Formats: sequence, structure tokens, C-alpha cells
Amino acid sequence: MENTLAPGLYIVATPIGNLGDLSPRASMILSQADVVAVEDSRVTAGLLRHIGVKRPMLPYHDHNADAVRPGLIARMGSEAVALVSDAGTPLISDPGYKLVRDARAAGHMVVTIPGPCAAIAALTLAGLPTDRFFFLGFLPSKAHARAEAIAEVAAIRATLIFYESGPRLSACLSALAEGLGDREAGVAREITKKFEECVTGTLTTLAARYAEAPPKGEIVIVVGPPGEAPPATLEDGEAALVEALTRLPASKAAGEVAKKLGLDRKALYARAMELKG
Ligand code: SAM
Repeated sequence: MENTLAPGLYIVATPIGNLGDLSPRASMILSQADVVAVEDSRVTAGLLRHIGVKRPMLPYHDHNADAVRPGLIARMGSEAVALVSDAGTPLISDPGYKLVRDARAAGHMVVTIPGPCAAIAALTLAGLPTDRFFFLGFLPSKAHARAEAIAEVAAIRATLIFYESGPRLSACLSALAEGLGDREAGVAREITKKFEECVTGTLTTLAARYAEAPPKGEIVIVVGPPGEAPPATLEDGEAALVEALTRLPASKAAGEVAKKLGLDRKALYARAMELKG
């Protein structure tokens, strides 16, 4: 087939299981690219076979990326370079962002061919709020580092998305329950494949379920946002007022506490005057 692609970098999303999810445009780009930068040439060879094409492949993965990148950037001046990962969208918990950065710096055209991404697919399955979400990829495997990473995001008012493996799933769910509270969650597994499922429940029920039988296959954990903070009580107001009065005059202290806790300013001012008197 004649190559009609303009030189540059083409970021090509590929299926996460079901080959039917390869878009016609992704297929066209892969058929016409001068070279396909791949994580694992055996995996991508299977995909290229599926669409009946043979293209030159160049391994581009965490262990050789720094050495291979300058050559790929140079080729983009006159050739169409496609980047794929083993599955899903390149750059998402996969190599590629430095390639895009350097391609841009060199003034090359960068085009994306969007498609499957396990994180987004899981979000659409879990039935949890989708208006705000935060993707964390893989958490550290060591318990202490994992707990620290979880603590960093505990206050974020958004649905959280993690990638995880079967053997570590139950421990990870327990750590999430410990660090985030027992929130609603979903475990999406083998998305787009024969045994696709999304099991929902609280983090502790899911942790117990998977402790008995660690699941096989690929997994995304989706965790709902924290619940609304309970409304401030009069005791909260009193404590905050006493503290504010150590720094501020009564009217300012009442104003600060009213704003912070959503309580009545006049009542707080009256109480502040009592406390002062
Ligand atoms: N770039 C990919 C994407 O766009 O989703 C993700 C690559 S990351 C190295 C691989 C992880 O994605 C897996 O360990 C798993 O957590 C998740 N994943 C990939 N395919 C999946 C699938 N079909 N079902 C559930 N999770 C999947």
C-alpha cells in the first residue's frame, strides 16, 4: 500500500482485549506507518497480523527508551512513526510521554488516534460518579509506600482509579479501606474479554471477597469519592471560636468561624462576647 501519511508521530490506541475495538483509523495508520514503535514486538505482530499487514517494528520500552528515542525523533522529520503499547492507550501507565515531549520540541507533527483505555472503560462500568475522577495508575507494591500514596489522595473529592494485579488485589483493597474509609468501589476485570465483569460493593466487602480467591486477569479498581463532610456541630463551633479568640477580636473571630463552618455569625458573635466577658 502506498504511504500517504505525513511525517510525524502518531499515537495509536489499540484494543485492551477485544480486537474488534481497533478503530478503522488506527488500522489505517498502522497499515501505512513507516515504522511502529512497540513495547513488545510479539504482541504487536499479533495485532498487525489481525489486520493483515506487515510493518517494520522498533522496540520502545522502559529499558531502551532513552537510547532509542533520539533515532526515532530524527526519523519523524521524514517518516511516519506510529507508537503503540501492548494494549490500550500509549502513555497511560505505559511509555511514550518523553517521545511526545521531544517530538514537539523538535517541531514534528504529533497526532493522536484515541481508543480503548482500561481506566476510562472501568469508570464507565462501575456506576460511580464520573463528573470528577483522578487516575493514579499502579500504587507502590510495598505496604508503607502504598499507604503513603493513598493518604496523599484521601481528601480529593473525586472518584479514584487504580490499576492492580490479581494477587495483590485484596491487600490493595484493604489498604484503600484503611486509608480512605470504607467507600463504595468497583473491581473491573478482563474488560472487553470473554470473562469481563465489574463487581461493586464497599471496599471492605470487596477485600474479603477477593481474599478468599485472588482473581485472574487484568484489573482496574474504581473508588467513589468521600461522602459529604457532616455538618459542623455547636461543639465544633465553640472549639473553633475559642481558638479564633486567641488571635482575633470577637467580631472577626465570629466571622471567620461562621465562614469556615457554615454557622450563624450573629449567634457566634453573641457567644464570643459571653466568652470574653
Ligand atoms: N495503557 C493501558 C490503558 O490504556 O489502559 C494500560 C497499560 S498498564 C501497563 C496495564 C494495566 O491496565 C493492567 O495491569 C490492568 O490493571 C489494566 N488493564 C489493561 N487491560 C485491561 C482489561 N482488559 N481489563 C481490566 N484492566 C485492564
